[in-house]
Amino acid sequence: MEKNEILTVTIEDMGSAGEGIGRADGYTLFVKDAVIGDTVETRIVKAKKKYAYARLERVLEPSPFRVEPRCPYARQCGGCQLQAMSYERQLIYKQNKIRGDLIHLGGFREEEADAVLEPIVGMEEPFRYRNKAQYPVGTARNGEPVTGFYAGRTHTIIPNTDCCLGREENKEILEKILAYLKENRVPAFNEETGKGLIRHILIRTGFDSGQIMVCLILNVGPGSKGGQGKKAFLPAQEKLIGALRSIPGMTSISVNLNAERTNVIMGRETHTLWGEEKITDSLYLRDVGKGSFERTGEKVSFRISPVSFYQVNPQQTEKLYSLALAYAGLTGKETVWDIYCGIGTISLFLAAYAGKVYGVEAVERAVEDARENARLNGIENAEFFAGKAEEVLPELYEKEGIWADVIVVDPPRKGCDSAVLDTMLKMRPERIVYVSCDPATLARDLKVLREGGYEVKRGRGVDQFGGTVHVETVCFLARKA
Ligand code: SAH
Repeated sequence: MEKNEILTVTIEDMGSAGEGIGRADGYTLFVKDAVIGDTVETRIVKAKKKYAYARLERVLEPSPFRVEPRCPYARQCGGCQLQAMSYERQLIYKQNKIRGDLIHLGGFREEEADAVLEPIVGMEEPFRYRNKAQYPVGTARNGEPVTGFYAGRTHTIIPNTDCCLGREENKEILEKILAYLKENRVPAFNEETGKGLIRHILIRTGFDSGQIMVCLILNVGPGSKGGQGKKAFLPAQEKLIGALRSIPGMTSISVNLNAERTNVIMGRETHTLWGEEKITDSLYLRDVGKGSFERTGEKVSFRISPVSFYQVNPQQTEKLYSLALAYAGLTGKETVWDIYCGIGTISLFLAAYAGKVYGVEAVERAVEDARENARLNGIENAEFFAGKAEEVLPELYEKEGIWADVIVVDPPRKGCDSAVLDTMLKMRPERIVYVSCDPATLARDLKVLREGGYEVKRGRGVDQFGGTVHVETVCFLARKA
Protein backbone atom coordinates (compact mmCIF):
# COMPACT_ATOMS: atom_id res chain seq x y z
CA MET A 1 0.00 0.00 0.00
CA GLU A 2 1.30 3.42 -0.88
CA LYS A 3 0.73 7.02 -0.03
CA ASN A 4 -2.06 8.69 -2.04
CA GLU A 5 -3.53 5.35 -3.08
CA ILE A 6 -7.33 5.46 -3.27
CA LEU A 7 -9.25 2.68 -1.58
CA THR A 8 -12.86 1.85 -0.87
CA VAL A 9 -13.51 0.52 2.61
CA THR A 10 -16.40 -0.25 4.91
CA ILE A 11 -16.03 1.07 8.45
CA GLU A 12 -16.57 -1.70 10.98
CA ASP A 13 -15.30 -0.22 14.21
CA MET A 14 -14.31 3.06 15.89
CA GLY A 15 -10.97 3.75 17.58
CA SER A 16 -10.37 5.57 20.85
CA ALA A 17 -9.71 8.88 19.08
CA GLY A 18 -13.06 8.60 17.26
CA GLU A 19 -11.53 7.46 13.97
CA GLY A 20 -13.28 4.91 11.78
CA ILE A 21 -11.58 1.53 11.38
CA GLY A 22 -11.95 -0.72 8.36
CA ARG A 23 -10.07 -3.46 6.58
CA ALA A 24 -8.88 -3.66 2.97
CA ASP A 25 -6.43 -6.10 1.36
CA GLY A 26 -5.35 -7.41 4.75
CA TYR A 27 -4.60 -3.88 5.95
CA THR A 28 -6.25 -2.10 8.85
CA LEU A 29 -7.20 1.42 7.86
CA PHE A 30 -7.72 4.26 10.30
CA VAL A 31 -9.96 6.89 8.76
CA LYS A 32 -10.59 10.14 10.60
CA ASP A 33 -14.15 11.51 10.16
CA ALA A 34 -15.58 8.17 8.97
CA VAL A 35 -18.50 6.76 10.92
CA ILE A 36 -19.11 3.12 11.80
CA GLY A 37 -21.32 1.65 9.04
CA ASP A 38 -20.08 4.03 6.32
CA THR A 39 -18.67 2.80 3.05
CA VAL A 40 -16.11 5.41 2.09
CA GLU A 41 -13.51 6.27 -0.49
CA THR A 42 -10.23 7.05 1.24
CA ARG A 43 -6.80 8.30 0.31
CA ILE A 44 -3.80 6.79 2.10
CA VAL A 45 -1.89 9.41 4.03
CA LYS A 46 0.65 7.23 5.80
CA ALA A 47 1.26 3.53 5.18
CA LYS A 48 2.90 1.12 7.61
CA LYS A 49 3.45 -2.63 7.27
CA LYS A 50 0.08 -3.83 8.51
CA TYR A 51 -1.94 -0.68 8.84
CA ALA A 52 -2.39 2.74 7.33
CA TYR A 53 -3.87 6.13 8.09
CA ALA A 54 -6.24 7.37 5.45
CA ARG A 55 -8.17 10.52 4.67
CA LEU A 56 -11.88 10.45 4.06
CA GLU A 57 -12.38 11.56 0.45
CA ARG A 58 -16.01 10.72 -0.17
CA VAL A 59 -18.83 8.94 1.62
CA LEU A 60 -20.11 6.39 -0.91
CA GLU A 61 -22.80 4.88 1.27
CA PRO A 62 -23.59 6.69 4.48
CA SER A 63 -23.97 4.79 7.71
CA PRO A 64 -27.45 4.77 9.27
CA PHE A 65 -25.71 6.49 12.22
CA ARG A 66 -24.33 9.34 10.11
CA VAL A 67 -25.89 12.76 10.77
CA GLU A 68 -25.22 16.24 9.43
CA PRO A 69 -22.95 17.93 12.02
CA ARG A 70 -24.55 21.01 13.51
CA CYS A 71 -21.25 22.85 13.39
CA PRO A 72 -19.98 23.80 9.90
CA TYR A 73 -16.37 23.41 11.16
CA ALA A 74 -16.83 20.00 12.80
CA ARG A 75 -14.29 18.32 10.51
CA GLN A 76 -11.54 20.92 10.78
CA CYS A 77 -11.88 21.80 14.44
CA GLY A 78 -9.93 19.77 16.96
CA GLY A 79 -12.71 19.92 19.53
CA CYS A 80 -15.40 17.49 18.34
CA GLN A 81 -14.52 14.08 16.91
CA LEU A 82 -17.97 12.48 16.83
CA GLN A 83 -20.37 15.18 15.63
CA ALA A 84 -21.09 13.28 12.40
CA MET A 85 -22.47 10.36 14.42
CA SER A 86 -25.94 10.35 15.97
CA TYR A 87 -25.97 11.04 19.70
CA GLU A 88 -27.54 7.65 20.44
CA ARG A 89 -24.70 5.93 18.60
CA GLN A 90 -22.13 8.13 20.40
CA LEU A 91 -23.45 6.76 23.69
CA ILE A 92 -23.08 3.17 22.45
CA TYR A 93 -19.53 4.01 21.36
CA LYS A 94 -18.74 5.32 24.84
CA GLN A 95 -20.38 2.38 26.59
CA ASN A 96 -18.33 0.01 24.39
CA LYS A 97 -15.19 1.96 25.12
CA ILE A 98 -15.63 1.53 28.88
CA ARG A 99 -16.55 -2.13 28.51
CA GLY A 100 -13.64 -2.83 26.16
CA ASP A 101 -11.12 -1.17 28.47
CA LEU A 102 -12.39 -3.11 31.49
CA ILE A 103 -11.90 -6.34 29.53
CA HIS A 104 -8.65 -5.59 27.70
CA LEU A 105 -6.86 -3.45 30.27
CA GLY A 106 -8.63 -4.26 33.52
CA GLY A 107 -8.59 -8.05 33.36
CA PHE A 108 -12.39 -8.35 33.54
CA ARG A 109 -14.00 -11.35 31.93
CA GLU A 110 -16.80 -10.36 29.53
CA GLU A 111 -19.50 -11.60 31.91
CA GLU A 112 -17.90 -9.66 34.77
CA ALA A 113 -17.87 -6.44 32.79
CA ASP A 114 -21.51 -6.95 31.76
CA ALA A 115 -22.54 -7.73 35.33
CA VAL A 116 -21.16 -4.48 36.78
CA LEU A 117 -21.82 -2.01 33.98
CA GLU A 118 -25.09 -0.13 34.06
CA PRO A 119 -26.37 1.81 31.02
CA ILE A 120 -24.51 5.04 30.34
CA VAL A 121 -26.23 8.24 31.44
CA GLY A 122 -26.63 10.48 28.41
CA MET A 123 -27.48 14.16 28.12
CA GLU A 124 -30.93 15.46 27.42
CA GLU A 125 -29.48 17.96 24.96
CA PRO A 126 -25.96 17.23 23.65
CA PHE A 127 -25.33 20.82 22.53
CA ARG A 128 -24.89 24.13 24.37
CA TYR A 129 -23.84 22.24 27.47
CA ARG A 130 -20.48 23.87 28.27
CA ASN A 131 -20.38 26.63 30.89
CA LYS A 132 -16.86 27.64 29.93
CA ALA A 133 -15.29 28.71 26.65
CA GLN A 134 -11.67 29.62 26.02
CA TYR A 135 -11.19 31.31 22.68
CA PRO A 136 -7.71 32.03 21.28
CA VAL A 137 -7.31 35.41 19.57
CA GLY A 138 -5.18 35.93 16.46
CA THR A 139 -4.86 38.11 13.39
CA ALA A 140 -6.45 37.29 10.05
CA ARG A 141 -4.63 37.83 6.73
CA ASN A 142 -6.46 41.13 6.29
CA GLY A 143 -5.01 42.33 9.60
CA GLU A 144 -8.25 42.14 11.55
CA PRO A 145 -8.54 40.35 14.87
CA VAL A 146 -10.12 36.89 14.78
CA THR A 147 -11.21 34.38 17.35
CA GLY A 148 -12.36 30.80 17.05
CA PHE A 149 -10.89 27.38 17.65
CA TYR A 150 -7.68 25.64 16.82
CA ALA A 151 -7.76 23.24 13.91
CA GLY A 152 -6.92 19.69 15.02
CA ARG A 153 -3.28 19.33 16.19
CA THR A 154 -2.34 22.87 15.12
CA HIS A 155 -2.51 26.43 16.38
CA THR A 156 -4.24 27.74 13.28
CA ILE A 157 -7.38 29.58 14.33
CA ILE A 158 -10.60 28.72 12.51
CA PRO A 159 -12.76 31.83 12.89
CA ASN A 160 -15.97 30.92 14.71
CA THR A 161 -17.72 32.89 17.40
CA ASP A 162 -20.53 30.40 17.82
CA CYS A 163 -19.27 27.02 19.01
CA CYS A 164 -22.45 24.98 19.44
CA LEU A 165 -21.17 23.26 22.58
CA GLY A 166 -21.09 26.65 24.33
CA ARG A 167 -23.73 29.20 25.19
CA GLU A 168 -25.50 31.20 22.52
CA GLU A 169 -24.68 34.39 24.42
CA ASN A 170 -20.96 33.84 23.82
CA LYS A 171 -21.36 35.04 20.24
CA GLU A 172 -22.50 38.52 21.24
CA ILE A 173 -19.75 38.79 23.85
CA LEU A 174 -17.03 37.72 21.40
CA GLU A 175 -18.28 40.01 18.66
CA LYS A 176 -18.32 42.98 21.02
CA ILE A 177 -14.77 42.21 22.08
CA LEU A 178 -13.61 41.83 18.45
CA ALA A 179 -15.25 45.14 17.55
CA TYR A 180 -13.50 46.83 20.47
CA LEU A 181 -10.13 45.34 19.43
CA LYS A 182 -10.59 46.50 15.87
CA GLU A 183 -11.77 50.03 16.67
CA ASN A 184 -9.00 50.61 19.16
CA ARG A 185 -6.30 48.83 17.20
CA VAL A 186 -5.49 46.49 20.04
CA PRO A 187 -3.12 43.85 18.65
CA ALA A 188 -3.71 40.14 19.06
CA PHE A 189 -0.87 38.02 20.42
CA ASN A 190 1.37 36.35 17.86
CA GLU A 191 2.71 33.03 19.08
CA GLU A 192 5.66 33.12 16.71
CA THR A 193 6.99 36.58 17.51
CA GLY A 194 5.76 36.73 21.11
CA LYS A 195 4.37 40.21 20.34
CA GLY A 196 0.84 41.55 20.63
CA LEU A 197 -1.47 41.87 23.61
CA ILE A 198 -4.61 39.71 23.60
CA ARG A 199 -4.00 35.97 23.89
CA HIS A 200 -7.29 34.39 24.86
CA ILE A 201 -10.84 35.22 25.86
CA LEU A 202 -12.36 33.21 28.69
CA ILE A 203 -16.13 33.23 29.19
CA ARG A 204 -17.83 31.41 32.01
CA THR A 205 -21.53 31.28 32.84
CA GLY A 206 -23.19 30.04 35.98
CA PHE A 207 -26.01 27.95 34.51
CA ASP A 208 -27.98 28.14 37.73
CA SER A 209 -27.18 31.73 38.71
CA GLY A 210 -27.08 33.21 35.20
CA GLN A 211 -23.93 35.13 36.19
CA ILE A 212 -21.38 35.71 33.41
CA MET A 213 -17.64 36.22 33.73
CA VAL A 214 -15.37 37.49 30.97
CA CYS A 215 -11.60 37.43 31.34
CA LEU A 216 -9.10 38.61 28.72
CA ILE A 217 -5.74 36.89 28.96
CA LEU A 218 -3.02 39.41 28.15
CA ASN A 219 0.58 39.07 27.07
CA VAL A 220 1.80 41.12 30.03
CA GLY A 221 4.33 40.12 32.67
CA PRO A 222 3.39 39.76 36.33
CA GLY A 223 3.56 42.72 38.67
CA SER A 224 2.52 45.19 35.98
CA LYS A 225 0.25 47.87 37.40
CA GLY A 226 -1.15 48.84 34.05
CA GLY A 227 -0.31 52.40 32.93
CA GLN A 228 0.05 55.29 35.38
CA GLY A 229 -0.51 53.20 38.48
CA LYS A 230 -4.19 52.96 37.60
CA LYS A 231 -5.91 49.77 36.74
CA ALA A 232 -5.61 50.38 33.02
CA PHE A 233 -4.39 47.27 31.31
CA LEU A 234 -5.97 47.91 27.93
CA PRO A 235 -6.14 50.89 25.57
CA ALA A 236 -9.53 52.59 25.93
CA GLN A 237 -10.41 50.04 28.58
CA GLU A 238 -13.63 51.86 29.49
CA LYS A 239 -14.97 51.26 25.97
CA LEU A 240 -14.62 47.52 26.40
CA ILE A 241 -16.27 47.62 29.79
CA GLY A 242 -19.04 49.82 28.41
CA ALA A 243 -19.73 47.34 25.62
CA LEU A 244 -19.82 44.29 27.88
CA ARG A 245 -21.49 45.49 31.07
CA SER A 246 -24.88 45.94 29.42
CA ILE A 247 -25.08 42.23 28.54
CA PRO A 248 -27.69 40.63 30.82
CA GLY A 249 -26.01 38.57 33.54
CA MET A 250 -22.60 40.22 33.19
CA THR A 251 -21.07 40.01 36.66
CA SER A 252 -17.31 40.08 36.32
CA ILE A 253 -14.87 41.53 33.79
CA SER A 254 -11.19 40.91 34.38
CA VAL A 255 -7.76 40.51 32.83
CA ASN A 256 -5.27 37.77 33.53
CA LEU A 257 -1.56 38.32 32.88
CA ASN A 258 0.49 35.71 31.09
CA ALA A 259 3.70 36.65 29.26
CA GLU A 260 5.05 33.10 29.22
CA ARG A 261 5.66 31.40 25.85
CA THR A 262 3.75 28.25 26.74
CA ASN A 263 0.50 26.47 25.94
CA VAL A 264 -0.75 27.13 29.46
CA ILE A 265 -3.56 29.59 28.98
CA MET A 266 -3.84 31.38 32.31
CA GLY A 267 -1.11 33.20 34.24
CA ARG A 268 -0.91 33.73 37.99
CA GLU A 269 -2.15 37.30 38.24
CA THR A 270 -5.74 38.37 37.70
CA HIS A 271 -7.15 41.91 37.98
CA THR A 272 -10.84 42.68 38.11
CA LEU A 273 -11.70 45.59 35.81
CA TRP A 274 -15.40 45.80 36.55
CA GLY A 275 -17.89 44.05 38.83
CA GLU A 276 -17.11 41.14 41.07
CA GLU A 277 -13.94 39.14 41.37
CA LYS A 278 -15.84 35.84 41.23
CA ILE A 279 -19.16 34.50 40.04
CA THR A 280 -21.34 32.15 42.05
CA ASP A 281 -23.01 29.02 40.82
CA SER A 282 -24.78 26.05 42.40
CA LEU A 283 -24.89 22.34 41.69
CA TYR A 284 -27.91 20.31 42.78
CA LEU A 285 -28.12 16.83 44.14
CA ARG A 286 -30.16 14.55 41.87
CA ASP A 287 -32.44 11.67 42.68
CA VAL A 288 -30.56 8.70 41.21
CA GLY A 289 -33.12 6.13 42.33
CA LYS A 290 -35.63 6.50 39.52
CA GLY A 291 -33.32 6.85 36.58
CA SER A 292 -34.84 10.21 35.64
CA PHE A 293 -32.22 12.00 37.71
CA GLU A 294 -34.53 14.75 38.83
CA ARG A 295 -33.06 17.54 40.91
CA THR A 296 -33.67 17.44 44.63
CA GLY A 297 -33.87 20.75 46.47
CA GLU A 298 -30.43 20.19 47.95
CA LYS A 299 -27.56 22.18 46.49
CA VAL A 300 -24.00 23.28 47.04
CA SER A 301 -22.84 26.73 45.94
CA PHE A 302 -19.45 27.64 44.57
CA ARG A 303 -17.53 30.86 44.16
CA ILE A 304 -15.57 30.66 40.93
CA SER A 305 -12.65 32.86 39.89
CA PRO A 306 -11.28 32.99 36.33
CA VAL A 307 -8.50 30.55 37.28
CA SER A 308 -10.59 28.12 39.35
CA PHE A 309 -11.21 24.64 38.07
CA TYR A 310 -14.94 24.06 37.76
CA GLN A 311 -16.66 21.21 35.96
CA VAL A 312 -17.69 22.36 32.48
CA ASN A 313 -20.96 20.46 32.13
CA PRO A 314 -22.99 21.24 35.24
CA GLN A 315 -26.07 19.18 34.28
CA GLN A 316 -24.11 15.97 33.88
CA THR A 317 -21.76 16.73 36.77
CA GLU A 318 -24.81 16.78 39.03
CA LYS A 319 -25.73 13.30 37.82
CA LEU A 320 -22.18 12.00 38.13
CA TYR A 321 -21.64 13.28 41.65
CA SER A 322 -25.09 12.19 42.79
CA LEU A 323 -24.18 8.68 41.62
CA ALA A 324 -20.83 8.92 43.42
CA LEU A 325 -22.66 9.92 46.59
CA ALA A 326 -25.14 7.07 46.23
CA TYR A 327 -22.30 4.59 45.66
CA ALA A 328 -20.52 5.88 48.77
CA GLY A 329 -23.49 4.62 50.83
CA LEU A 330 -23.00 7.11 53.67
CA THR A 331 -25.01 7.00 56.91
CA GLY A 332 -23.71 10.17 58.57
CA LYS A 333 -20.92 8.66 60.62
CA GLU A 334 -18.24 7.80 58.09
CA THR A 335 -14.79 9.22 57.65
CA VAL A 336 -14.32 9.91 53.96
CA TRP A 337 -11.23 10.85 51.96
CA ASP A 338 -11.74 12.68 48.66
CA ILE A 339 -8.48 12.33 46.74
CA TYR A 340 -7.78 14.73 43.82
CA CYS A 341 -10.55 16.89 45.25
CA GLY A 342 -10.07 20.06 43.17
CA ILE A 343 -12.18 22.88 44.61
CA GLY A 344 -13.99 20.34 46.78
CA THR A 345 -16.97 19.76 44.53
CA ILE A 346 -17.42 16.13 45.56
CA SER A 347 -16.24 16.65 49.15
CA LEU A 348 -18.88 19.26 49.79
CA PHE A 349 -21.62 17.02 48.41
CA LEU A 350 -20.44 14.20 50.67
CA ALA A 351 -20.05 16.34 53.80
CA ALA A 352 -23.75 16.51 54.66
CA TYR A 353 -23.89 12.70 54.73
CA ALA A 354 -20.56 11.90 56.40
CA GLY A 355 -18.98 12.33 59.82
CA LYS A 356 -15.88 13.92 58.40
CA VAL A 357 -14.51 14.56 54.93
CA TYR A 358 -10.84 15.10 54.08
CA GLY A 359 -9.76 16.34 50.68
CA VAL A 360 -6.33 16.25 49.01
CA GLU A 361 -5.45 18.40 46.00
CA ALA A 362 -2.18 19.49 44.35
CA VAL A 363 -3.19 22.98 43.24
CA GLU A 364 -2.91 25.36 46.17
CA ARG A 365 -5.44 27.84 44.74
CA ALA A 366 -8.01 25.09 44.34
CA VAL A 367 -7.55 24.12 47.99
CA GLU A 368 -8.15 27.73 49.00
CA ASP A 369 -11.31 27.69 46.87
CA ALA A 370 -12.40 24.45 48.52
CA ARG A 371 -12.04 25.99 51.99
CA GLU A 372 -13.91 29.14 50.92
CA ASN A 373 -16.68 27.05 49.39
CA ALA A 374 -17.01 25.00 52.58
CA ARG A 375 -17.48 28.23 54.56
CA LEU A 376 -19.93 29.60 51.99
CA ASN A 377 -22.13 26.52 52.45
CA GLY A 378 -21.77 26.42 56.22
CA ILE A 379 -19.94 23.09 56.05
CA GLU A 380 -17.74 22.52 59.09
CA ASN A 381 -16.78 18.87 58.77
CA ALA A 382 -14.57 19.16 55.69
CA GLU A 383 -10.81 19.66 55.85
CA PHE A 384 -8.46 20.10 52.90
CA PHE A 385 -4.78 19.32 52.38
CA ALA A 386 -2.66 20.92 49.68
CA GLY A 387 -0.03 18.76 48.03
CA LYS A 388 0.50 15.87 45.69
CA ALA A 389 -1.68 12.96 46.68
CA GLU A 390 1.21 10.53 46.17
CA GLU A 391 3.21 12.48 48.79
CA VAL A 392 0.54 13.71 51.21
CA LEU A 393 -1.33 10.45 51.58
CA PRO A 394 1.56 8.03 52.31
CA GLU A 395 3.07 10.57 54.71
CA LEU A 396 -0.15 11.07 56.66
CA TYR A 397 -0.63 7.32 56.73
CA GLU A 398 2.88 6.64 58.08
CA LYS A 399 2.93 9.52 60.58
CA GLU A 400 -0.65 9.77 61.72
CA GLY A 401 -2.13 6.45 60.78
CA ILE A 402 -5.00 8.05 58.87
CA TRP A 403 -7.81 5.73 57.83
CA ALA A 404 -11.12 5.92 56.00
CA ASP A 405 -14.45 4.15 55.83
CA VAL A 406 -14.89 5.36 52.30
CA ILE A 407 -12.39 6.73 49.78
CA VAL A 408 -13.46 8.69 46.72
CA VAL A 409 -10.89 9.32 43.98
CA ASP A 410 -11.30 11.57 40.95
CA PRO A 411 -7.83 11.65 39.32
CA PRO A 412 -6.74 13.46 36.15
CA ARG A 413 -6.55 11.45 32.90
CA LYS A 414 -3.35 9.67 33.78
CA GLY A 415 -5.14 7.94 36.66
CA CYS A 416 -3.95 7.31 40.23
CA ASP A 417 -0.30 7.30 41.11
CA SER A 418 0.83 3.85 42.29
CA ALA A 419 1.80 5.27 45.71
CA VAL A 420 -1.80 6.48 46.05
CA LEU A 421 -3.21 3.06 45.17
CA ASP A 422 -0.77 1.39 47.63
CA THR A 423 -1.81 3.70 50.45
CA MET A 424 -5.50 3.24 49.66
CA LEU A 425 -5.04 -0.52 50.00
CA LYS A 426 -3.21 -0.04 53.30
CA MET A 427 -5.99 2.23 54.60
CA ARG A 428 -8.40 -0.63 53.95
CA PRO A 429 -11.60 1.41 53.49
CA GLU A 430 -14.81 -0.56 53.29
CA ARG A 431 -15.82 1.14 50.08
CA ILE A 432 -14.05 2.95 47.26
CA VAL A 433 -15.76 5.17 44.71
CA TYR A 434 -13.64 5.77 41.63
CA VAL A 435 -14.64 8.70 39.40
CA SER A 436 -12.65 8.69 36.17
CA CYS A 437 -12.29 10.80 33.05
CA ASP A 438 -10.38 8.09 31.17
CA PRO A 439 -11.66 4.50 31.07
CA ALA A 440 -8.21 3.17 30.07
CA THR A 441 -6.44 4.34 33.23
CA LEU A 442 -9.54 3.50 35.27
CA ALA A 443 -9.33 -0.11 34.05
CA ARG A 444 -5.60 -0.25 34.83
CA ASP A 445 -6.18 1.03 38.39
CA LEU A 446 -9.19 -1.22 38.99
CA LYS A 447 -6.96 -4.18 38.23
CA VAL A 448 -4.61 -3.16 41.07
CA LEU A 449 -7.50 -2.59 43.47
CA ARG A 450 -9.11 -5.92 42.58
CA GLU A 451 -5.82 -7.73 43.14
CA GLY A 452 -5.55 -5.85 46.44
CA GLY A 453 -8.79 -7.33 47.80
CA TYR A 454 -11.60 -5.21 46.35
CA GLU A 455 -14.52 -6.23 44.24
CA VAL A 456 -16.03 -3.94 41.62
CA LYS A 457 -19.76 -3.98 42.30
CA ARG A 458 -21.14 -1.33 39.99
CA GLY A 459 -19.92 0.95 37.25
CA ARG A 460 -21.62 3.52 35.08
CA GLY A 461 -20.60 5.90 32.34
CA VAL A 462 -21.86 9.47 32.43
CA ASP A 463 -21.48 11.48 29.24
CA GLN A 464 -20.23 14.95 30.04
CA PHE A 465 -18.86 15.74 26.58
CA GLY A 466 -21.30 15.10 23.74
CA GLY A 467 -19.74 15.31 20.27
CA THR A 468 -16.32 14.33 21.62
CA VAL A 469 -14.74 10.96 22.42
CA HIS A 470 -14.45 11.71 26.13
CA VAL A 471 -16.48 9.92 28.76
CA GLU A 472 -16.62 9.88 32.55
CA THR A 473 -17.14 6.71 34.53
CA VAL A 474 -18.00 6.12 38.16
CA CYS A 475 -17.32 2.77 39.85
CA PHE A 476 -18.19 1.36 43.23
CA LEU A 477 -15.83 -1.11 44.90
CA ALA A 478 -16.33 -3.02 48.15
CA ARG A 479 -13.69 -4.70 50.28
CA LYS A 480 -13.96 -8.47 50.10
CA ALA A 481 -14.83 -10.13 53.38
N1 SAH B 1 -13.20 16.34 41.87
C1 SAH B 1 -12.77 17.64 41.47
C2 SAH B 1 -11.60 17.71 40.49
C3 SAH B 1 -11.19 16.49 39.75
S1 SAH B 1 -10.06 16.84 38.44
C4 SAH B 1 -13.91 18.44 40.92
O1 SAH B 1 -14.88 17.88 40.46
O2 SAH B 1 -13.85 19.64 40.94
C5 SAH B 1 -8.55 16.17 39.06
C6 SAH B 1 -7.87 17.06 40.08
O3 SAH B 1 -6.64 16.43 40.46
C7 SAH B 1 -7.47 18.44 39.58
O4 SAH B 1 -8.01 19.39 40.46
C8 SAH B 1 -5.94 18.45 39.63
O5 SAH B 1 -5.41 19.69 40.02
C9 SAH B 1 -5.67 17.42 40.70
N2 SAH B 1 -4.36 16.75 40.65
C10 SAH B 1 -3.62 16.42 39.56
N3 SAH B 1 -2.52 15.74 39.93
C11 SAH B 1 -2.56 15.64 41.27
C12 SAH B 1 -1.70 15.03 42.25
N4 SAH B 1 -0.59 14.41 41.88
N5 SAH B 1 -2.06 15.09 43.54
C13 SAH B 1 -3.22 15.72 43.92
N6 SAH B 1 -4.05 16.32 43.05
C14 SAH B 1 -3.74 16.28 41.74
